[in-house]
Amino acid sequence: MKKHNFSAGPCILPKEVLLKASEAVMDFNGSGLSLVEISHRSKDFVAVMENARSLALELLDLKDKGYKALFLQGGASLEFLMVAYNLLEKKAGYLNTGTWSDKAIKEAKLFGDVVEVGSSKDEKFTYIPKEYSVPSDLDYLHITSNNTIYGTQFKKFPKTDCPLVCDMSSDIFSRTMDFSQFDLIYAGAQKNMGPAGTTLVIVKEDILGQVSRKIPSMLDYQVHIAKDSMFNTPSVFAVYTSMLTLEWLKNLGGIAAIEEVNEKKARLLYSEIDLNPVFKGYANIEDRSLMNATFNITDEVLKSTFDTMLKEAGINGLNGHRSVGGYRASMYNALSLESVGVLVDVMSEMERKG
Ligand code: PMP
Repeated sequence: MKKHNFSAGPCILPKEVLLKASEAVMDFNGSGLSLVEISHRSKDFVAVMENARSLALELLDLKDKGYKALFLQGGASLEFLMVAYNLLEKKAGYLNTGTWSDKAIKEAKLFGDVVEVGSSKDEKFTYIPKEYSVPSDLDYLHITSNNTIYGTQFKKFPKTDCPLVCDMSSDIFSRTMDFSQFDLIYAGAQKNMGPAGTTLVIVKEDILGQVSRKIPSMLDYQVHIAKDSMFNTPSVFAVYTSMLTLEWLKNLGGIAAIEEVNEKKARLLYSEIDLNPVFKGYANIEDRSLMNATFNITDEVLKSTFDTMLKEAGINGLNGHRSVGGYRASMYNALSLESVGVLVDVMSEMERKG
């Protein structure tokens, strides 16, 4: 039976990417050797790293604009720390839109003063704060563009005089925008890009080198830039597979093309959530995420029937995050409109039964 994978991450990747990646595990570029058993310094792998870095900048339209792309390790969670290590001299601002920004705040506090410029904690992170003012003396302002757990997403970004840092883990490469409004973007690969194990960091070089502390080499963006993202052995499989996904996206027509599909998928699912009395959306309508749609079942008695129907339809990964409960349909780039259609059919069938 065909599976429809709505998992929040690690998540669905394009079939053709998985096929090519698995071929490279057995025989990379016809070398008779596996991608994972050759030197990362070999000509073939260096080309992979360079291509992946270049594609990331190209897709975001950040080429020749003073940015560098890095494929690091430690997940987005290590970036919570590295951002502050590299940029926080005295004071940083954070918009708190849920668990992940909360964790980023916790790490930043190890390095300096942290101001929570805005927060949606009062309403269980169901919305994106809008009425806030950004202090003029920040080293940077940090935001989380898409809140994977709650299903909220920034539609408009704050204008700042200080560098703007964005955790884009769960919506990078999914929608068009002016990416040059950010000075540093980071994203764990395991949503729209590839398998877990590498983190994309896009950084404007001129914001670096301005803190007075000494930075350990592995945590220093400038060291990784100087070594062309090869300071130590990179996660070769994750970088290669990310490169394949970025190529796949480019061949589809880039972010603008996938955005159209993502909007269609979200429209289809949210209209079902809104029209079907069996379900209720979690996030504020105006702040809803195109990537993660969160909703609850209005009558808990129906839950086991719904869960059985999901299973029978081949739908995987629809459980909400353990901290929120309910349901969450993650509709990352590789998920087809057809899969969303299958989910919507099950939901309307549920209405007939309920
Ligand atoms: N930020 C966001 C928005 C996330 O969704 C996640 C993981 N789901 C993280 C950070 C943490 O990422 P990692 O597990 O790669 O450290």
